[in-house]
Amino acid sequence: MDTIKIPRTSQKRVVIIGGGFAGLALADKLCGDHFQVVLVDRHNYHQFQPLLYQVASAGLEPSSISFPFRKNFSKKRNFYFRMAAVTRIVSDQNYIETPIGTLSYDYLVIAAGTTTNFFGNENIRKAALPMKSVEEALTLRNTLLYNLERALDCTDADQKQALLNIVIVGGGATGVEIAGALSEMKRYIIPKDYPDLADHEVNIYLIEGSSRLLNVMSEEASAHVYKFLTEMEVNIITEIHVTDYVDGKVIMSDGQTIATNTLIWVSGVTAERFGGIADDCLARAGRLVVNEFNQLKGHSNLFAIGDICMQTEPDFPNGYPQVAPVAIQQGELLAKNLMQVEKGGALTPFKYKDKGSLATVGRNKAVADIKKIKLQGFVAWAVWLLVHLRSILGVKNKLMVLINWIWNYVMYDQSLRFIFRSRPKGD
Ligand SMILES: Cc1cc2nc3c(=O)[nH]c(=O)nc-3n(C[C@H](O)[C@H](O)[C@H](O)COP(=O)(O)OP(=O)(O)OC[C@H]3O[C@@H](n4cnc5c(N)ncnc54)[C@H](O)[C@@H]3O)c2cc1C
Repeated sequence: MDTIKIPRTSQKRVVIIGGGFAGLALADKLCGDHFQVVLVDRHNYHQFQPLLYQVASAGLEPSSISFPFRKNFSKKRNFYFRMAAVTRIVSDQNYIETPIGTLSYDYLVIAAGTTTNFFGNENIRKAALPMKSVEEALTLRNTLLYNLERALDCTDADQKQALLNIVIVGGGATGVEIAGALSEMKRYIIPKDYPDLADHEVNIYLIEGSSRLLNVMSEEASAHVYKFLTEMEVNIITEIHVTDYVDGKVIMSDGQTIATNTLIWVSGVTAERFGGIADDCLARAGRLVVNEFNQLKGHSNLFAIGDICMQTEPDFPNGYPQVAPVAIQQGELLAKNLMQVEKGGALTPFKYKDKGSLATVGRNKAVADIKKIKLQGFVAWAVWLLVHLRSILGVKNKLMVLINWIWNYVMYDQSLRFIFRSRPKGD
């Protein structure tokens, strides 16, 4: 059933859909003599999502947080990459369908992560700026900068304010991080780049439906982040839901509205979907139900790892948090388990080793919950820097990010404020 031209060999073929944290950890460990590994991803690079907000706020170049798959695996034997978006899984005949053809497998691992959840609201989907990929982060950067350019000469006071109002929906880690980064931009960059704009004209709103920001972290962390962001002049609104976006205005559940041309939507995710998956394999937000070995319900050669899967245990009855460490640990364990399957050995069940949670809102301002230890301020910020720098793929990328951070820290500036738009082919 193969129309994609990858030779069949005596090795068993493992097809991995998605080269995010989970897929990459698995492919890294699996490559070698045991299996033929085929990675299929809709992008030709791995993206480091935790720093997307710094690309969106013109603090980092996109290439610093992206790494090409072909380079990453160039020295690995029995590895193949195909750039394609998988559309369907035909599990009774062991093959996948993509726009570039079909490909058979012995083992299939779904590691396709999640996409933004607009909760079925088409108005919001069309207007909002999500932040799940490098392309989306660049669109956000372009929009922010374009709106500032337009605001300068706007003669209608209401339209001008809409260009200068930034509304962020979702007070999780991504929401507070982008709010902090934009607040620093408002304080340090806008007065220099746009001296004819008064800085008080730029308003940043952060709207969260639950009663506190960072509601998956400790109450101490939430309280510190609330204090940091309030001091940074971010307008925080909690226990309010955004219900619609009509005529350029965000509509809230209490009837209030905010006019804005910049609606940043980081309020939830839903699993990537594929044809051919039975309904009884789907849990909340489309996550794929797996057992303790990450096997999809009712299948022995079909696995799901990372954000896309729903794996429960007594401490996590609603599934593990959708964070990078879970994805990496599941990928690494599955590599070992697949080798065990081939040897006829016993499989090891997954158990998440939670090392803690971190979030930053700007220079010297971060929070960290590391088991029972709660850190905030400079120490938490230093931990955040080290953890993220360590996790970025590639020595050059690590260096580029470090240099950018040092430059930003010392100079309070970064000259990446370009509006780059790609020209559609044939225009
Ligand atoms: C803005 C942001 C900030 C975050 N910050 C943190 C943080 O600070 N700390 C933390 O631990 N976690 C953070 N996360 C969460 C973390 O990034 C995820 O938990 C992690 O990426 C999950 O890894 P994954 O491999 O399951 O999926 P992903 O990393 O999302 O990778 C999925 C891959 O699948 C590919 N793909 C999707 N659909 C298809 C298809 N149909 N066909 C082919 N390929 C496909 C995608 O291109 C992608 O490469 C953040 C996430 C975001 C969006």
